[in-house]
Amino acid sequence: MSTISAPTKCPVCNTDLVLSKTGIDLFCPNNEKCPAQVVQRLSYFCNRDIGNIVGLSDKQIARFVEELDVNDILDLFTLDFEKIEQWEGFGKRSVENLKESIAKLVENGLDDYKLLQALSIEGVGAKTGQLICQSMNYISK
Ligand SMILES: [Zn+2]
Repeated sequence: MSTISAPTKCPVCNTDLVLSKTGIDLFCPNNEKCPAQVVQRLSYFCNRDIGNIVGLSDKQIARFVEELDVNDILDLFTLDFEKIEQWEGFGKRSVENLKESIAKLVENGLDDYKLLQALSIEGVGAKTGQLICQSMNYISK
């Protein structure tokens, strides 16, 4: 009789998995460097509700991580557009759109609560971010 056992290593970065405080979930503690987690954080930041960097798929973000050594949000602001433009699936127009989205973000900045949300702190979404900012008088509305 065979038994199915829980994985012990992260399938992406091969780090030893850790049991959550609740004892229910296994997670990869390599959150700074695990490529899957980096892609998810960047994808979360790029979405319409936060950074609004339009037209980027998770697959394209994964390519930034793998080939351009993009590891965090700040790296999105120093992308090598000339290189990206050469990639299949990226034309001049999509690179222009990407540049435009990033330039708009630089120009307009992020609301404080969106910045909090973008940090991907467990349990801190838009609403909690707003409440934290309100309680610290960062939002005058
Ligand atoms: Zn991992």
